[in-house]
Amino acid sequence: MTALGAGPGTLGMRNMPSIRRLCVYCGSSLGVAPQHRAAAAELGERLATAGIGLVFGGGRVGLMGVLADAALAAGGHVTGIIPAGLRDAELAHRGVSELVVVANMHERKRQMAERADAFAVLPGGIGTLDETFEIMTWHQLGLHSKPVWIVDIGGYWQPLLKIFDHLTAEGFAVALVPQIARLAPSVAALIEALQAVQSAPAGLRTDLV
Ligand code: AMP
Repeated sequence: MTALGAGPGTLGMRNMPSIRRLCVYCGSSLGVAPQHRAAAAELGERLATAGIGLVFGGGRVGLMGVLADAALAAGGHVTGIIPAGLRDAELAHRGVSELVVVANMHERKRQMAERADAFAVLPGGIGTLDETFEIMTWHQLGLHSKPVWIVDIGGYWQPLLKIFDHLTAEGFAVALVPQIARLAPSVAALIEALQAVQSAPAGLRTDLV
């Protein structure tokens, strides 16, 4: 007699990775410190090796381009989601596995959120912050339960974490890390955390975003 929960079906379920597609928010610039570029390349390669698809903003510039190029070079699946206006400005990455052209920025962010099982934030500027704040706000509102990781390459996000602490101390937010977002000190730590996720997160409430 098979012990409860140990049948072949259950074992198969347990081996199924919960995070199959990761949405990455990151800079459309390369930044000053070379470690950011290296982190983007490392993440692209490790995602491909781990069999986790990449969902991103579809650009060929900055860390976004480095990330996508590295994932593609390592045989990974890459979905870019870009508004027609940006594609036409020839900033779209032409070599991705799938390029989804959408009407506007809002539709792009909704589709990026819908198509991924989890989110990671690499160094970036205000576009990256905008995407991060929005996905965290949607999490706070219960519009999804997909995990969000802030990848703190070389301490880049320490000022943001200080603002998070300030919001919490002043009574305007819960402890954002770890309640709404989690912290990964390196790309390797992020991959390990992604692979440790056991349960499939609840999907995006597309009726509300
Ligand atoms: P930023 O951090 O200001 O460089 O903005 C980068 C983020 O905004 C990325 O995660 C993208 O989703 C989006 N984004 C900004 N600029 C572009 C671009 N030229 N092509 C594609 N996506 C972009």
